[in-house]
Amino acid sequence: MDSKDGTVIILGAGQAGGQCAASLRRLGYTGRIVLSGEEAHPPYQRPPLSKTYLSGEIDESRLWLQPPETWAEQQVELRLSCRAKRIDRDRQLVIFADGREEAYSHLVLATGARVRTLPVPGADLDGVRYLRSIADVDALRADFAPGKRIAIIGGGYIGLEAASVASKLGAKPVVIEAMDRLLARVAVPEVSEFYRAAHDTRGVSIRLNAQVAALKPKSGLFSRGKSVAKVELGNGETIACDSVLVGIGVVPNVELAAACGLATGNGIVVDEVCRTNDPDIYAIGDCAEQENWLTGSRLRLESVPNALDQGKRAAGAICGDAAPKREVPWFWSDQFDLRLQTAGLIGAQDTTITRAGEDETPRSFFHLADGVLIAADCINDPHSFMAAKMMLQKRARPDPAALADPDVAMKDVMKPAQATVRACGHQSPRPG
Ligand code: FAD
Ligand code: NAP
Repeated sequence: MDSKDGTVIILGAGQAGGQCAASLRRLGYTGRIVLSGEEAHPPYQRPPLSKTYLSGEIDESRLWLQPPETWAEQQVELRLSCRAKRIDRDRQLVIFADGREEAYSHLVLATGARVRTLPVPGADLDGVRYLRSIADVDALRADFAPGKRIAIIGGGYIGLEAASVASKLGAKPVVIEAMDRLLARVAVPEVSEFYRAAHDTRGVSIRLNAQVAALKPKSGLFSRGKSVAKVELGNGETIACDSVLVGIGVVPNVELAAACGLATGNGIVVDEVCRTNDPDIYAIGDCAEQENWLTGSRLRLESVPNALDQGKRAAGAICGDAAPKREVPWFWSDQFDLRLQTAGLIGAQDTTITRAGEDETPRSFFHLADGVLIAADCINDPHSFMAAKMMLQKRARPDPAALADPDVAMKDVMKPAQATVRACGHQSPRPG
């Protein structure tokens, strides 16, 4: 039942949960809103954790989604260090870890994801770290000091952003990636190669096709430490290090949902307005799996724009509002002086067109399937990114020759691009 009173309980006080609470009030929800999160901090944004917060350019206060006192002003009951343990759907109750029970009329699951842990011997040594929360960054800051050797396992977003910060701070990062290219889950080979070269020329050592076999402490006749001192690869090579940062992906927090019988796959399965198979329960953000209107496939998107969009969608549905316009998925990553902006989802492309920058280095990559633009990766090229987003919204067919020619302005590429309503049915290689 949709209405503007009652009690909404939101489990997970992160990017999606915080947005949902704020949107409910903005849409005139008059009932109780309980926003409960297991972390000790008020709702915060994670992107700076591997960028400006890690580098020390900003402090904690710049991470909050809104000033902490605003939650109370909006009459959102913020409960921190408060973990939900169980959901009783028959009685519409949440049971928290401290034993407290709370009744809901609507429940929103915004439990996010947790880091995938490294499954090798020695992964429990001191100095082996992960990067998901403020507490994680605070624990690994000392590793990023000048001269420190950091073995970074995983050449995804976390690994590369952290390597760029480490290098800027004078530490010595080595990125160890199991696949034959960087960013394999989220980027085409052309973008992977661009970033490999960019890191290489800026002093980051990259090992591809490198399987981690074990982490080892310092060993010697008289010393056998508990701190990690080297990474042993499958080919027998060892990489000496002072610490290890693991960034090998995340696992969605779906256990609460699965235990109470909600449908789960790679995430908690939801419809267009983020409703689960229980009409009073919603799921949003990293933990939710939803059919994507561009690909037609069910995906879990791990990004801030998705968390914000789904937070607003669930709030709108609870208040009985019409579903908002469908958004083109987009992503960004800052590494050194390079800002990557990605629009759309790769997977079904049959053609990738490279558009050169002013200095002849590739600036943007456009991915087409049967002539229809399905995604674009734009490096320090916000004009192309904005144009690509607009063309994606219309499922446009841009002229490949014009796209490839940096002398043709993006506005002139966009104009003649034919809109098409034909669904192109592409799928991302591994839903993220
Ligand atoms: P989260 O932000 O993870 O919040 C979920 C919260 O739920 C957590 O606080 C968790 O502790 C809590 N929780 C879990 N279980 C329970 C429970 N049982 N009871 C109570 N609380 C619970 N995205 C981008 O788009 N651009 C970027 O540049 C970018 N950079 C990133 C950098 C880093 C280092 C990381 C880690 C992520 C980055 N992301 C980026 C991804 C983005 O931050 C996530 O997609 C986004 O935070 C998802 O929001 P969420 O609310 O779904 O999950
Ligand atoms: P990710 O993007 O999934 O990248 C992890 C990489 O590590 C993948 O290439 C993965 O390969 C590889 N890997 C897996 N197991 C490995 C092993 N044993 N040894 C070496 N490499 C291994 O995840 P992430 O970089 O850890 O990021 C975690 C989360 O934070 C994601 O949700 C991500 O979207 C988010 N994040 C986003 C941004 C951004 O948007 N700018 C920045 C930072 C973090 P396989 O694909 O083969 O598993």
